[in-house]
Amino acid sequence: MTTATGFNAIVGQQQPIKLLKTFIRNGTMPHALLFTGDDGVGKKTTATAFAMACNCRKLGSAIDRQPHPDAIIDACGDCGPCRKIAGNHHPDIIRVAPLPSVIRIAQIRSLLQSLALKPNEAAWRVVILSEAQAMNAEAGNALLKVLEEPPDRTLLVLTARQPSDLLPTIVSRCRHIRFSPLGAPDIKRLLALAGGIEPESAETVSALCGGSFTRAQKLMDSRWLRRRDWIHRVMDEQLAGPPPPQIRTWLAFSEKLARKKDLIEESLEIVTMWFRDVLVARHDPQRVLNRDRLEALSRAAESVKPARLLLQIDAVDRALKALRSNTNARLTLDAMVLQIAGACT
Ligand SMILES: [Zn+2]
Repeated sequence: MTTATGFNAIVGQQQPIKLLKTFIRNGTMPHALLFTGDDGVGKKTTATAFAMACNCRKLGSAIDRQPHPDAIIDACGDCGPCRKIAGNHHPDIIRVAPLPSVIRIAQIRSLLQSLALKPNEAAWRVVILSEAQAMNAEAGNALLKVLEEPPDRTLLVLTARQPSDLLPTIVSRCRHIRFSPLGAPDIKRLLALAGGIEPESAETVSALCGGSFTRAQKLMDSRWLRRRDWIHRVMDEQLAGPPPPQIRTWLAFSEKLARKKDLIEESLEIVTMWFRDVLVARHDPQRVLNRDRLEALSRAAESVKPARLLLQIDAVDRALKALRSNTNARLTLDAMVLQIAGACT
């Protein structure tokens, strides 16, 4: 998310950070931590800040002298260990991540070999194993050995979307810390820090990204915004008033959606959000996610009945599930648009 400089640079996540600071202050470090939460909420950045704070020379000697309040428990960012960790070249901070989508047994075996040796120089050796759900069963079982008999001066930090994605035997050996989705003001702050963003777009994207900065960055892509414009135009024209829906236009929409296979899921999310916003616009316009489209959505809310909207949302949801099971995309999308059109006649 942000350049690794310490807890103070992390946007949001006050609760997880408070807990990690307590471990450091009291010297009660769990051997294994599991950070769960959506992509792009700061899990890896926090793991790096934690590794820095555990190894910061200035912080370590300050804590030895006197107890510290939470506010000042943080890495200095300037001592040798801090600089090495921030620069990603500390020999005792070991990162394991999917290659490209799976964490294989060979990666865990190599980790076990490193952990069999003593740490080179760190006060605390830290293993950051990200997207732990990508471990295959063999890799997961191999990791259990480390969790059962953790080496001295070694901390493991696993990240995953949710605990249910992992073997229960792994989860039960970790101290679980949940990361919340970021609030819209936090996302806006991060977008502003990244720069080059119109305030109006930042407002829209922060409402649409579901609290994930990674997703917010994806949505800032002008191609996504153009795709949303196109889909909204079709939805407005076809569903928000006369003339009645044209089957031919719907099928052309389906054909165009099917052409870019890697964008189908993202496009259907835009469709679902349109339906969701039309439902919400009727009762609570403040909660509409596509805020820049409130006027058009409110117009649509007057012409489409809620019961029909629910059927249409269900049609998109079923199409998404079918597509994830590798059904024929064109056939699935044709069936979906016909259901959407049929549900509103
Ligand atoms: Zn330091």
